[in-house]
Amino acid sequence: MTYPTQPTASHFINGRYVEDDGGAPIDVIYPATGAVIGRVHSATPAIIDQALNAARDAQGTWAALSGTERGRILRRAADIMRERNHDLSVLETYDTGKPYQETSVADATSGADALEYFGGMAATLTGEHIQLGEDWVYTRREPLGVCVGIGAWNYPTQIASWKGAPALACGNTMVFKPSETTPLCALKVAEILYEAGVPAGVYNVIQGLGDVGAALVSDARVDKVSLTGSVPTGRKVYAAAAAGIKHVTMELGGKSPLIVFDDADVENAVSGAILGNFYSSGQVCSNGTRVFVQKGIKDAFLDRLAQRLADAVIGDPQDPATSFGPMVSERQLGIVEGYIAKGQSEGARLVYGGKRLEREGFFIEPTVFADVTDDMSIAREEIFGPVMAVLDFEDEAEVLARANDTEFGLAAGVFTRDLTRAHRVAAGFQAGTCFINSYNDAPVEAPFGGSKLSGVGRENSKAAIEHYSQLKSVYVRMGDLEAPF
Ligand code: NAD
Repeated sequence: MTYPTQPTASHFINGRYVEDDGGAPIDVIYPATGAVIGRVHSATPAIIDQALNAARDAQGTWAALSGTERGRILRRAADIMRERNHDLSVLETYDTGKPYQETSVADATSGADALEYFGGMAATLTGEHIQLGEDWVYTRREPLGVCVGIGAWNYPTQIASWKGAPALACGNTMVFKPSETTPLCALKVAEILYEAGVPAGVYNVIQGLGDVGAALVSDARVDKVSLTGSVPTGRKVYAAAAAGIKHVTMELGGKSPLIVFDDADVENAVSGAILGNFYSSGQVCSNGTRVFVQKGIKDAFLDRLAQRLADAVIGDPQDPATSFGPMVSERQLGIVEGYIAKGQSEGARLVYGGKRLEREGFFIEPTVFADVTDDMSIAREEIFGPVMAVLDFEDEAEVLARANDTEFGLAAGVFTRDLTRAHRVAAGFQAGTCFINSYNDAPVEAPFGGSKLSGVGRENSKAAIEHYSQLKSVYVRMGDLEAPF
């Protein structure tokens, strides 16, 4: 099968596609059919070496450009990405199975936003002047060096861009390893950056499973690691980075709460719950999968939710009319089916969906459980699929305590018309990314990231600059220097 903008080899290193078929083959599977649509090879030690050397060698020259020059190139890349949005979205849909209806507005567009935003910011990155009487200190904001980006499979273009844009804006270089489940899109990001004028070696992509990621993280040439992935992987990567005292950003999993008070607008609350559970077939880290609904609004909420879910168009994700696609893989589908079975056996009430579709590909219905209690597996563990758990509650203090009673802290949302309650609850959430009367917005201008087990550091916004640069302070003495002897 051919598809637009098909990458021509497994890796992109030093400004060109590189192949080494000595690496283990990785099949690229189209989730909507289960068909193998491509094959890449895992990076061999020689490929890993080549990529890290390219990044190391290119870093000084890239950092020596002015911020304006670096930014201009990144903004050019943003423009190219937007011009090619259609083809990139088709590719993203082949890579992930997400509907084109989503990928055409949420993936390359989001990557382009990051390139544009950090491209614009590159020229504004400065140190400061600190006067100390006659003497003074100035600070230089310097890059970290070589950054490694490791991606999850749900947003391959976005993750490659969200990590690459701030890293490059600050004068770093990057070796990015996409998820083995969705290896294609990051190659296009590398291609576009190079075409826009990013010098060879500044942004490289290599393929592989966890072993390739682990080899990158523990390499002495690497100064920073940014991972998007699960908590168990985060623990391993964080520990390996700690051995080399490397900087880290960890964007990990979640089990986020979404609270709907009696006074909420039902239609908006249902929209929030749909966006926070079924977009990308539920494969979104920040999803609000524990939906706490106050008793007075519960029936109206569940009725309206069921009506709206019946309007989901499930089918060929390349068809722009389709609004709900397959799971990314057979494995992920199996995990979701396992949780649906657990939900039933642990006593939750299945009120919508729950079945695999009888068709090719990895499709499962959007699924809703009601009468879920805090101790059930579907209320405690990240499923990473389209399974909503609806829990009842009586009052604000109770629901906030229950919402926070989780080891995760990625996101949280509240629907209410009570202004002060909305802000009070948002302030009380133990989570990094919160929403009032909305869910899962991720504009590049706002910090994104988690607390507790959900992560370390922030992506996007001015905050990301702190995670891709370091300050050097330079003390300047203006007079003579005294010493004790
Ligand atoms: P995963 O943890 O299985 O894999 C993530 C990446 O880490 C992959 O590229 C994988 O090859 C690599 N990896 C695995 N073991 C490694 C090791 N020992 N050293 C280095 N790299 C290693 O996650 P996944 O299944 O691809 O993605 C789903 C998870 O990602 C979910 O938990 C989800 O919540 C999380 N996620 C988080 C965010 C966020 O921004 N917080 C965004 C998307 C996904």
